Amino acid sequence: MFNDLGLLAIGIDLGGSKILAAVVESQGKVLASDESATPVKRGRQAIIQSMLKSTRQALKQANMDISEICAIGVGVAGISNPDTGILFTSPNLPPLRNVPLRDMMQKKLGKKVFLINDANAAALGELYFGAARGARNFIYVTLSTGIGGGIVIDGKIYTGTIGAAGEIGHMTIDDEGPLCNCGNRGCWEALASGTALAKEAQQRIKRGAKTSILEYAGGDVGKVTAQVVHSAAKHGDSLAKELIAQTGYYVGVGLANLINIFNPELIVIGGGLSNIGDMLLEPAFKVAGGRAYKETFQAVRFASAELGRNSGVLGAAAFALQEMKGLCGK
Ligand SMILES: [Zn+2]
Repeated sequence: MFNDLGLLAIGIDLGGSKILAAVVESQGKVLASDESATPVKRGRQAIIQSMLKSTRQALKQANMDISEICAIGVGVAGISNPDTGILFTSPNLPPLRNVPLRDMMQKKLGKKVFLINDANAAALGELYFGAARGARNFIYVTLSTGIGGGIVIDGKIYTGTIGAAGEIGHMTIDDEGPLCNCGNRGCWEALASGTALAKEAQQRIKRGAKTSILEYAGGDVGKVTAQVVHSAAKHGDSLAKELIAQTGYYVGVGLANLINIFNPELIVIGGGLSNIGDMLLEPAFKVAGGRAYKETFQAVRFASAELGRNSGVLGAAAFALQEMKGLCGK
């Protein structure tokens, strides 16, 4: 994808719970990486220090100096204005709100830094190095504790007017549905994410439903997660199966909207919840097929994300190289 073979970038995936920094070669090889916990409670300086430490650690492991790096891409769980480099929304990283993250990192590392939303970074990772290689129009969907996405149009990530496009998890699916973290009601992620599945299971248990789900959570209803529901479903629990199918139904409603709006050739699905597989995705594809325009549905292909935990660092690094447009003094 990049003509300059051997060009190096650093990709950082800054999430609410972990920081992953990696030295990435322009053909998508991760040469070294370092993971640490995000010290959200210790404030913004501590978070930035952790990012710097992980970056230096990854460089050390790769036996490299920062001077050999072209640029740095940071995929961050939030939205930043590409012109100012200021993070203006970061629900899982409250201390970084309104912080000029790009300039602070640039000053500390002496290299160009580019910020990108974490889901957009993952989409770019799949586009350059994973399941979406060669695609022109595709949508990346991550089904996880929330739902995120990236929209690629004509081979380029679509970021919108202020860098906030692609928040597919917050399209309204049910106007009277459950309250979402964003303040709206009935968002896609309030109905079809791992958190939504866990919440629904917890509520049904509290209302006295007959199920073995609780056994897989050590008897503690607060410990019922999407993974726990999946374990119960695999062992034949009928409520667990019903709840996963219901989540799949809502996944499908959202997919139908995306298909009708964007007419993509490909939808790449990643994120921890998607590991449930057919039990979740079969009803999703069925519902999407029933709701989307027939021709647009026939034109779309579905694929699983290929890059796993490295999608964010690979995409952030690719974004940095893309933005440098080959202007790297080696
Ligand atoms: Zn929302």
